[in-house]
Amino acid sequence: MLTLETLQAFIQAYAARLAELCTVLDDLDNRIGDGDHGTNMARGFRTAADRITGETFADLGALCQAVAMALLASVGGASGPLYATVFMRFAQSWKDCTNVDFGQVATGVASACEGLRARGKAEVGEKTLLDVWTPASEALAAQPDENGMRAAVASATKAALASRDIPATKGRAAYLGERSVGTCDPGSISSAVFFEELADATVGGVTKTSWQTSAW
Ligand code: ADP
Ligand code: MG
Repeated sequence: MLTLETLQAFIQAYAARLAELCTVLDDLDNRIGDGDHGTNMARGFRTAADRITGETFADLGALCQAVAMALLASVGGASGPLYATVFMRFAQSWKDCTNVDFGQVATGVASACEGLRARGKAEVGEKTLLDVWTPASEALAAQPDENGMRAAVASATKAALASRDIPATKGRAAYLGERSVGTCDPGSISSAVFFEELADATVGGVTKTSWQTSAW
């Protein structure tokens, strides 16, 4: 189950994790983009976490709306509007609910995925974060319970690492085309971390990847 409390805890945990991984994600983006993905994500989610600290929200919709606005206001890169879209879709899906079951979490994640596809005009296989969101969303839809959340993390992690082997056709990395092969997509890695933290906040006991590897 996802509650106001667990969603707030998730935002705080994801912001902390992004701060830890900031340099690693910047380095990765430096190889196939402009070197700011970690900085963008860490700043955006720190702003969102600070925005919701000590605040009371009537429902999950209001909380997600506040997160979306904080991301839009604080992130200039592609990831700002993309993650703002994710939280706007969550806000629509969980409007007027103070808690939702895993079936509704699956619906929200599927809607977020659809929003990402529309906003980024990307399809799966273009070396963007959609490559991670899509299989994670499918795993959760196939099994909307605690095990499905764990399966979503496994799918997300696998897809994030597999992004290394494909050429980018969307986003800044597309300028490199075939030369982007051999480096993981930074947005896919931060998305895998998103699912790790979401699962940890909702089901607990998730084994987290260190993501500190030169194999990227
Ligand atoms: P920018 O590319 O503006 O510097 P970031 O570095 O913060 O923004 O984010 C880059 C990430 O955004 C990429 O790694 C990729 O996963 C994701 N991305 C870029 N363009 C798109 C798109 N059109 N659709 C979906 N995701 C995208
Ligand atoms: Mg960038």
